[in-house]
Amino acid sequence: MSNRINKLYYCRHCGNEVSFVKDGGGKIICCGEEMIIKKEGFNSEE
Ligand SMILES: [Zn+2]
Repeated sequence: MSNRINKLYYCRHCGNEVSFVKDGGGKIICCGEEMIIKKEGFNSEE
């Protein structure tokens, strides 16, 4: 099993959005504050 995650992070300050397909376990920081998770799901091979 090697499903890739698909997380979309959002910065409340500048509106920057970053999508990750691999979770490294670290926090995503933008504008000096932790980015919030806007969308979280899994990529499944269809
Ligand atoms: Zn930002």
